[in-house]
Amino acid sequence: MELYIHIPFCVRKCNYCDFLSFPAGSESIESYCRALDEEICRTAEIIYEKQEDRNTGRISTIFVGGGTPSVLAPEQIRRLFFCLRQNFSISPDAEISMEANPGTLTREKLAACMEAGVNRLSIGLQSSDDALLKVLGRIHTWEQFLDNYREARKTGFQNINIDLMSSLPGQTLSGYLKTLEQVTELRPEHISSYSLILEEGTPFFDSEDIRRRLPDEAVDREMYERTKELLHERGYERYEISNYAKEGFACRHNIGYWDGVPYLGLGLGASSYYDNARFSNEISMKKYLEHPFIPFQERQDYYVTEIKDRIEDYMIFGLRKMSGVSLSRFAGEFGVSMEKIYGGVIRRYADMELLVMEGDTLRLTDAGIDVSNRIFEEFLL
Ligand code: SF4
Repeated sequence: MELYIHIPFCVRKCNYCDFLSFPAGSESIESYCRALDEEICRTAEIIYEKQEDRNTGRISTIFVGGGTPSVLAPEQIRRLFFCLRQNFSISPDAEISMEANPGTLTREKLAACMEAGVNRLSIGLQSSDDALLKVLGRIHTWEQFLDNYREARKTGFQNINIDLMSSLPGQTLSGYLKTLEQVTELRPEHISSYSLILEEGTPFFDSEDIRRRLPDEAVDREMYERTKELLHERGYERYEISNYAKEGFACRHNIGYWDGVPYLGLGLGASSYYDNARFSNEISMKKYLEHPFIPFQERQDYYVTEIKDRIEDYMIFGLRKMSGVSLSRFAGEFGVSMEKIYGGVIRRYADMELLVMEGDTLRLTDAGIDVSNRIFEEFLL
């Protein structure tokens, strides 16, 4: 089982962001941390009450995301992990990731993370171009990122991800490639690069000027292609549509999601998949602080998945991975062959060379990845 912990605070809201995150003062952050501790304790009680053997509910990965988890004070970071370790049975080799944003990371915080057992740091950079960072509404510069990155290495972090974005307003192909080159020179173990999507309700979505300055489709395409080439040349293996890693450093937490491993989301608005049910937490901070834990079945969106949902998820999330999906695992889990359910769709896309079958594996081809959303729709039952 995996854990996701949501820290919904940011110093300032970025202009493109529609995540559940907002600025807050230190008192609000402290109240939230206390509520989160309570939710952790109550959730673990429920999980382990049903399981006599705590090993059954062993946590294989923890991902502290946001928002900006690095807005927490060192003491709050220590307390959070102390609480998690006191209450959950965490595997000794668990992958423990924490997201951080430049401009909020300090030597003390990095030391607190390391002491608490965080073994993977995910830093949001987005671009090395200060002018672009400003347009995005980010609070940091490239220099600040570099300071944080070097400090993280000095602290001993040996597994670092850097998040990047492409197709930004006013971004040129050469500007984007410069970011990629500068980042690979630092030799992080993992790089994610996502194309900007204008999300409703954000300042970017409503701005005509921003829309006008977006790179056109051909440039967007070129950025995508060159990301694959450049990262491949520099020793990064693409293991998911937008994720690249040095050998042995693919993010286990994300692979777990795509493989259908159950996960519990703790904190404001966090969603869970547990005991074949989906549910999520309250998104109103006021209500969350009043009742940090509500029994799973009493949550508004509690939904027990049907076998049909699980089959769809298996295919759609599984095909995001370059390694694809396993036919024998499908048959073992669902008691029916993949051929019986999806034979027609698979043959059609295999003929178009968008899907390929290799032994026990079905995966998208490079051309298939480019039109993956269209193909995924065909796997809805
Ligand atoms: S730092 Fe991340 S979560 Fe926070 S506002 Fe910016 S994009 Fe959103």
